[in-house]
Amino acid sequence: MRMKLFDSHCHLEDNAFDSDRDEVLKRAIGSGIVGIVTSPIYPRDSTKALNLFRKSSIVKISIGLDVAEYGDDEKVNITLDLTRKHSEEIVAVGEVGLDYRVARRGPSKEKQKEVFRKFIGLAKELDKPLVVHSLWAQRPVLRILDKEGVERVILHAFGGKSEDVEFAVNRGWMVSIPTNVVRSNNVQKVALATPLDHIVLESDSPVLAPDPNQRNEPANIKISARFIADMKGYDAEELAKVVTYNAIKVYGL
Ligand SMILES: [Zn+2]
Repeated sequence: MRMKLFDSHCHLEDNAFDSDRDEVLKRAIGSGIVGIVTSPIYPRDSTKALNLFRKSSIVKISIGLDVAEYGDDEKVNITLDLTRKHSEEIVAVGEVGLDYRVARRGPSKEKQKEVFRKFIGLAKELDKPLVVHSLWAQRPVLRILDKEGVERVILHAFGGKSEDVEFAVNRGWMVSIPTNVVRSNNVQKVALATPLDHIVLESDSPVLAPDPNQRNEPANIKISARFIADMKGYDAEELAKVVTYNAIKVYGL
């Protein structure tokens, strides 16, 4: 039997796929991918993703904004408007969140929190799950999500400690494990700390490939699925069944 897999987060509208997007999708389907959520993080990419995928049965869209852009009120407002306007054509809000590495040169921590809360409010208003980015800011992200009472959360490429994973799991949130799990000790720790029914898999294509010198693509989810199954002591098909169900459920598909 073939594994049925789901790529919970990637960027398929990225220019990196302009020359061969159809082949990339064919390879994904050929590897057992039954669903993909792509997350444009710039207004022009959001429009591009809607044009490319709004009629797709496999690729679903989640509109967000790169944290580095949170200082630009116009871009924030355009993204909020775009998300509201196309709410029927998208499955989630995000990726949005906090990035304290970016805060060293870009928008301040306070500004980031203010904008993050706006997107949280929008996700609640539209009754959509939230795809969350958290770099060097896992704790503050978890605290805000908890305080705001967000229920459906996908913690994209989560890098928190085991107590942070526990905090998320206790609230019913999903921890999304990227394909670089095969080479990142920290990602492996997160995967080990997360119970199977709170794991979803993502490629984050075009980045975070199993091989750091290659462009990533959704088909590589089969590699991380096998790797995590081995690491956690599950049969790969059994793992695939659970994590794919988790993704379909959290995205309400
Ligand atoms: Zn991403």
